[in-house]
Amino acid sequence: MKFKKVSIIIPTYNESENIKRLIPLLDSILKGYDYEIVVVDDSSPDGTAKVAEKLAEEYPVRVLVRDGKLGLASAILYGFKNANGDVLGVIDADLQHPPQLIRTLVDKIMDGYDIAIASRYVEGGGVEDWSFYRRLVSKGAIMLAKPLTRVKDPMSGYFFLRRSVIDGAHLNPKGYKLLLEILVKGKYEKVAEVPYVFTKRMAGESKLNASEYWEYMRLLVHLYKAKFLRV
Ligand code: UDP
Ligand code: MG
Repeated sequence: MKFKKVSIIIPTYNESENIKRLIPLLDSILKGYDYEIVVVDDSSPDGTAKVAEKLAEEYPVRVLVRDGKLGLASAILYGFKNANGDVLGVIDADLQHPPQLIRTLVDKIMDGYDIAIASRYVEGGGVEDWSFYRRLVSKGAIMLAKPLTRVKDPMSGYFFLRRSVIDGAHLNPKGYKLLLEILVKGKYEKVAEVPYVFTKRMAGESKLNASEYWEYMRLLVHLYKAKFLRV
């Protein structure tokens, strides 16, 4: 693939402290790349959008504000739809996804992969600082998705793809997990998984709550039907 424009989506909800660190970091890592950052903010009460708009004076950042907290997966898809790049990707705002890895992920797409996933569950990957309970839930969620995909970390929130993978796909994102839906419904052949360690959140707190587990169950039912019953 010839050198293409890269769009990086950062979904945010109350991440004003983190975004101040992350955007300059990404800019220094992506020197020489043709890229844009699209912040999708769900009207964070802490003023994340304002902070991001300030950063946009200095960095190639666009800020899209949605009307209230509409969910992570739909925020990412909204970013993808409004992005200008041929290569699309997403990274969490809270620095739990190592920004340095972004070059490897983007380069995989430039080298011919359709999807490049930062993966906790390939050799060399892992999670730091998770309770036994959260590890168990994550493993359980992945087991339930096993018949849907061969990817080892289909729940990853840190991934890049060619726009053509999702062009024309009927994505109906609910809850947290967009990648799994893309893996079931997208058009692709080559997938790369690159190991990473999911580290501690820098500032603020997690927005993941129990209702997301129910959303995930509903998503699974939908995806099993889509894959095996073609409905
Ligand atoms: N996020 C969002 N909307 C939501 C929930 C989360 O934009 O409804 C963002 C959040 O600000 C962060 C990323 O999605 O940038 C991951 O969320 P979080 O860190 O809360 O999840 P965890 O890392 O605990 O799974
Ligand atoms: Mg997080």
